Amino acid sequence: RSKKSTSRSYEYFMEDMENDTRWRIDIIQKLHRDFYNGQLELWYQPQINLKTGVVCGLEALMRWPDEQGGFVQPPSVFIPLAEYSGLIVELGDWALEESCKLYKSLMESGLAPASVSVNVSVPQFKNPAMVKKATQLVSTHQMPQKALNLEITESLAMDDPQLVIESLLQLRKAGIQTSIDDFGTGYSSLGYLRKLSIDCLKIDQGFIQEIVLKDGQLQGGVFADTIVTLGDKLNLRVVAEGVETQEQARFLRQLGCEVAQGFFYAKPMPEEALYEWLRTYRPITV
Ligand code: C2E
Ligand code: MG
Ligand code: MG
Ligand code: MG
Repeated sequence: RSKKSTSRSYEYFMEDMENDTRWRIDIIQKLHRDFYNGQLELWYQPQINLKTGVVCGLEALMRWPDEQGGFVQPPSVFIPLAEYSGLIVELGDWALEESCKLYKSLMESGLAPASVSVNVSVPQFKNPAMVKKATQLVSTHQMPQKALNLEITESLAMDDPQLVIESLLQLRKAGIQTSIDDFGTGYSSLGYLRKLSIDCLKIDQGFIQEIVLKDGQLQGGVFADTIVTLGDKLNLRVVAEGVETQEQARFLRQLGCEVAQGFFYAKPMPEEALYEWLRTYRPITV
């Protein structure tokens, strides 16, 4: 290899890195600006009790709308950048408060399901004031404590075991519900899982999308089945996310999975659409 070609690829490498970094910084700055201008939104996706077809919960999901009716970036892009830059702490506080506000107004309209779930990131969860903040929000909005459910991803739960165990215990004492999100994609052991005071397991959507009808036979449900059994034995509610077909919903109901969430029932929607959806929804049983 000539010295010349080596330094040439090095130049390309550096240029790529710089462009990539600039792209990220640009997004973080825009996100910061749009957040403070009140342009971010929380959308809500219903969760359905598989046995009764009744709405039993909502998950709050952040959206960053642009001026053309689309989105600047999806959460899979801007949430990690917000975590990286630290902005997630403010974004997360806002999401918690918005969700509680929405829940209160749903209660007043007689439309509130049993719970609203909010995703919580590592830096938020590590903040010792988080539990207190959540507890105060719940009482300020006159919600039943168990109506708030905080979702942490399995990988977060692995991040700082002692702190996570302690925070979950305090949330349990406060009566606030907690879920492990994207369950089955991290590396937590059963020994660790038993130390976590959690209420729900959310089966990662990858395991649900594997469930397909092939030659009249349902296939790919082994992991969903295993997680439902695990939840059963540990006395945890199991929520399946990413349910897109009736076959998947029916299969999950037959397994004894309690709750489903996915495009088969409803996509995440903005607040006004949610009211309308809740008013007109009639239980879908599969
Ligand atoms: P998540 O918490 O696991 O949320 C579920 C994701 O699956 C959402 O993606 C939802 O729109 C999508 N989804 C729901 N049903 C279906 C379905 O039937 N099929 C498919 N293909 N997808 C479905 P979304 O809204 O893009 O959010 C992605 C991730 O970003 C979330 O995953 C969560 O980890 C994170 N996120 C979103 N909002 C927040 C937030 O307010 N705070 C934090 N910390 N993270 C958030
Ligand atoms: Mg979630
Ligand atoms: Mg998930
Ligand atoms: Mg996720």
